[in-house]
Amino acid sequence: MSDEGMEQKYVKEAFDTNWVVPLGPNVNGFEKDLEEFVGEDKRVVALSAGTAAVHLSLVACGVKPGDEVIVQSFTFCASSHPITYVSATPVFVDSEPDTWNMDPDLLEEAIKDRIAKTGRKPKAIIPVALYGMPYNCDRIMEIANRYEIPVIEDAAEGFGSKFNGQVLGTFGRYGVLSFNGNKMITTSGGGALVTENEDAWREIMMYATQYRESYPYYQHEKVGYNYRMSNVCAGIGRGQMTIVDEHIAHHKRVQALYEELLKDVEGVSVHSQPATGEYDSNYWLCTITLDPSLRVKGQEKAYKAIVTGAVGGAAGVIHAAESATTDCQPNENVEAMRVWLDAAQVEARPVWKPMHKQPVYQNAPAYVNGVSESIFKIGMCLPAGPCVTDDDVKYIVDCIKAAIE
Ligand SMILES: *Cc1c(COP(=O)(O)O)cnc(C)c1O
Repeated sequence: MSDEGMEQKYVKEAFDTNWVVPLGPNVNGFEKDLEEFVGEDKRVVALSAGTAAVHLSLVACGVKPGDEVIVQSFTFCASSHPITYVSATPVFVDSEPDTWNMDPDLLEEAIKDRIAKTGRKPKAIIPVALYGMPYNCDRIMEIANRYEIPVIEDAAEGFGSKFNGQVLGTFGRYGVLSFNGNKMITTSGGGALVTENEDAWREIMMYATQYRESYPYYQHEKVGYNYRMSNVCAGIGRGQMTIVDEHIAHHKRVQALYEELLKDVEGVSVHSQPATGEYDSNYWLCTITLDPSLRVKGQEKAYKAIVTGAVGGAAGVIHAAESATTDCQPNENVEAMRVWLDAAQVEARPVWKPMHKQPVYQNAPAYVNGVSESIFKIGMCLPAGPCVTDDDVKYIVDCIKAAIE
């Protein structure tokens, strides 16, 4: 665990100075810390959630009802749900096998095909740093610039990841950050939007605070949102920024240890960044894949019982599923491994299910190559948070080995 002293200091300060509101010294201080951290002369607006950051970036890109927005399919739903908030249509693009992120060739194919089919360009492109891994910034930015389509980088999982030494979130027109409880740093809940310049920053700030014009009374020329971060949450963020480098170093060390300990385990592969020199992942989560031929104890019983509540106890999951299976799910050996690890007090999870396979998006256009769907069937996320010690990693690897028949 990190030392919570700094967090408590700033939160206490918020109460002591009576700034228990969605603005104030901690919010300004946290934004300054973030600007320093991401560099490139960017301006940052702290928001109530990463999801709000995605939403506001779409609004600021002028995405309107009926427009299309290209988004990586292999992601958490917060990348694509806000596209529907503005009544636009997500167009899903599949992944490349090495980074698991948006495939640049498929991106270009999708752009061309949407123009051919609709006569209009997609309004924005959202690549996602899945599990912290950088997307191919060079190629995605080159294609986006050539077609003059703005890029909204979803770096919610990739806080502090770099491509060619440059921090993710600073390549596109907007960069989305998240400080939810499980992210690289946390403000309990929160997010931020990285913007290009003073004008863009000002506009996002307006949208985040109900779009109030500067008069002594309330005057509104546009519809805004109540998305500003609270000063109490920002106090936690300021404390977290004092240990962010340690957190990132920790995640990288955990990844390296998993790689080392699992390298001779047949049928289990650790997903690592391409060794081409540009990629510097924060390794927010360590992910592995299980060969379909690997036999895992108990796999004949996988999916026989309905899961009650979410895996990992995710908040808000109160529906009981109607059946134990869906038409697109992890292989039985992966589910058996999850159940085995769960019984050993290890919280492993399936990788994110691609959005183009989600029932809610069944009618959305999708440009697919099979990569994300096949990784979904064989992939798992392993614990990597600040509380995971070297001994824990050794224990987890021992459990994985013990599960193999
Ligand atoms: C966490 C996350 C977000 C933002 O989520 P919030 O919980 O709203 O902060 C956006 N995109 C991805 C890929 C994420 O993992």
